[in-house]
Amino acid sequence: LDTKSIRISDLTWPEYAARISDQSVVLLPVGALEQHGLHLPLSTDAIIAERLTEQLAARIDGIVLPTLTYGARSLARSGGGEQFSGTVNLDGSTLIALTRDIIREQARHGVTRFLALLGHGENDHFVAEGAELARRDPLASNMRILVMGWWQVLTTNDLTPLFPDAFPGWDREHAARVETALMMALAPDQVRLDRIGPVDAAIVPPYVMLPTPNGHVPEQGSLADPRGATAELGKGLAKIIVDRAAEIVRREFSLGNS
Ligand SMILES: [Zn+2]
Repeated sequence: LDTKSIRISDLTWPEYAARISDQSVVLLPVGALEQHGLHLPLSTDAIIAERLTEQLAARIDGIVLPTLTYGARSLARSGGGEQFSGTVNLDGSTLIALTRDIIREQARHGVTRFLALLGHGENDHFVAEGAELARRDPLASNMRILVMGWWQVLTTNDLTPLFPDAFPGWDREHAARVETALMMALAPDQVRLDRIGPVDAAIVPPYVMLPTPNGHVPEQGSLADPRGATAELGKGLAKIIVDRAAEIVRREFSLGNS
């Protein structure tokens, strides 16, 4: 993928100004720095969000902001929680403020269509809140904002090839089969294939208990078994995500079908 005309950070200011005057969609990948088991890097959520956002931007002629590589607090039920080395959590108020400021600054330059593409479940409500606060600023009164997690565009049907058994649900999928397959497809060099193995049985309760008690989360950090992931299945899922996201963006922003 030629990202030269896709990444805002690679454009000169007149190039940026020209793209904005076309009412191009501006896209922000939002990730996290969070443990992802024994076989995936801490920046997994940022890498997946960035790659998918760039592919989407190429399809809709959009431009991509530098990735937010930190995210909201990792919860035990969906990310393993705070006890793993390397996880860096933003306070919710910090992520709200970051999102609000970035969107407001884009509005100041005349952007009217903004998409935040999330790679980390816990970011969802905070990014939506930042988007709403930005929208209340008179500068951004013309701004339309889409906040979308890549997993939100997938149906249970799409997941059948990866889960001939049963899909355990998105919370348990942390550093498990889906993220592993996407990383194998999008960033194969970053996957430690020899570290993909079974995970301990654990409770993983649906509520939040702080600090996370022992035995609530598998020690490996993956919340479900990552085995069964393949690059082939990951490529298939990535294609479905980008196709469907492009369809949603065109509809919500009333873009043509080019
Ligand atoms: Zn993740």
